[in-house]
Amino acid sequence: MAGSGKFFVGGNWKCNGTKESISKLVSDLNDAKFETDVDVVVAPPFVYIDQVKSSLTNRIEVSAQNCWIGKGGAFTGEISGEQLKDVGCQWVILGHSERRHIIGENDEFIGKKAGYALSQGLGVIACIGELLSEREAGKTFDVCYQHMKAFADAVPSWDNVVIAYEPVWAIGTGKVATPVQAQEVHVAVRDWLKKNVSAEVASKTRIIYGGSVNGSNCTELAKQEDIDGFLVGGASLKGPEFASIVNSVS
Ligand code: PGA
Repeated sequence: MAGSGKFFVGGNWKCNGTKESISKLVSDLNDAKFETDVDVVVAPPFVYIDQVKSSLTNRIEVSAQNCWIGKGGAFTGEISGEQLKDVGCQWVILGHSERRHIIGENDEFIGKKAGYALSQGLGVIACIGELLSEREAGKTFDVCYQHMKAFADAVPSWDNVVIAYEPVWAIGTGKVATPVQAQEVHVAVRDWLKKNVSAEVASKTRIIYGGSVNGSNCTELAKQEDIDGFLVGGASLKGPEFASIVNSVS
């Protein structure tokens, strides 16, 4: 753990759940004991945010999985940062690879969303990461730097930003990055921040890893110097396993 904040573990529930399954998951999370030194955040689908906020008794914060690029209005189907704040959300995940590669969001659009979300007082979980073809072509660092630059161009301050390195080939595939592979990219991203933003931001900003993190592989990953937490997808849908990942802090 090199970022000077607390270890940070987010659960990205994606487009999963029903009122009933979410009620069970929240009750498991309410029963869990978490290390005090960890920030714990869950990201339910928009329609369940209110249910989750009102039934969580644990000190878990709530994130959205996306938001609109600016102020609300005539934007059918969108949810604004103001609305997220209104229902008590503290965070929003932006730039997730599923939004980049399935929905087609580009760097500039994602960067602008981040700038606006921060201006509304939301924390941003800013996702970056390469495709398998980009890794195989030796472009991992270039892709991550390009994603970082788009965020850096748009965010006024990094105080409420957590960077999530999520190699696309590791998301939902069961092929987790090795601790060495993840550490190598986290160091590169921290160096990029040092050169392009400031040494202070580089040392303070948390860089978390995401992609097939589970209860069995989290401990080795958490031991890496520059891994400051996790963004967990599939395994965050199981309360006890998610709690064990939160508690893997080294
Ligand atoms: P996964 O998803 O843990 O299911 O691989 C991670 C993510 O997409 O944030």
